Amino acid sequence: MSNDRTPRRGVLLIVASPSGAGKTSLCRRLMADHGGLELSVSMTTRDIRPGEVAGRDYHFVDHAAFQRGIDADAFLEWADVHGNRYGSPRAPVDKALSEGRDVLFDIDWQGARQIAEKCPGDAVRVFILPPSLEELRRRLVTRSQDADEVIERRIKNAKGEIEHCAEFDYVFVNDDFDRSYAELAHIYHAERSRRFRNTWVEAYREGLLSEDV
Ligand code: 5GP
Repeated sequence: MSNDRTPRRGVLLIVASPSGAGKTSLCRRLMADHGGLELSVSMTTRDIRPGEVAGRDYHFVDHAAFQRGIDADAFLEWADVHGNRYGSPRAPVDKALSEGRDVLFDIDWQGARQIAEKCPGDAVRVFILPPSLEELRRRLVTRSQDADEVIERRIKNAKGEIEHCAEFDYVFVNDDFDRSYAELAHIYHAERSRRFRNTWVEAYREGLLSEDV
């Protein structure tokens, strides 16, 4: 009998949190552990930070190039975040979905909302809360990638971001990396197993039922 487990509908796994809540490290680990999960590399107008790699962390562009992307409807979603523009290019997402792969988005609540509206069913929204705003400040200072005034702006914006956590499907507090990672991985695994995503099941079931035993 056929034991083909294709086709399947991919998951659009959206992970949002205030900057510094540990989202990026959790997402990197999830990617490293799951070959079928592809990161959506966003386009942004913000400056590159020390340690970042163009094309891996972001596609860094100027405002004119970003505007051309908007005009060409090249973004699945885009938003102004902390005074810069960020957007998720549409083409790689369409390609991944059509090939049955999953896509991970490290984006803010505005982008999460847009993708959930455009792709209901495919989108799964996860929000990661920091243990406290004090701890968030400590992490941002320790990371020391940003100037002081940028850190202050991010702390202020964190409250605006946290206000929207009720819109998300899953929410947890990142007070321990390993525990939070397990939580995120469980969510991903459970969502992958949902019946409606696994369109191969019908044929597989027929195969089982036709076995001559
Ligand atoms: P950062 O500048 O710290 O890398 O990102 C700032 C915020 O923008 C983070 O919350 C990040 O998740 C969000 N962000 C990154 N890429 C995108 C995107 O493509 N769309 C949206 N809406 N937000 C994004």
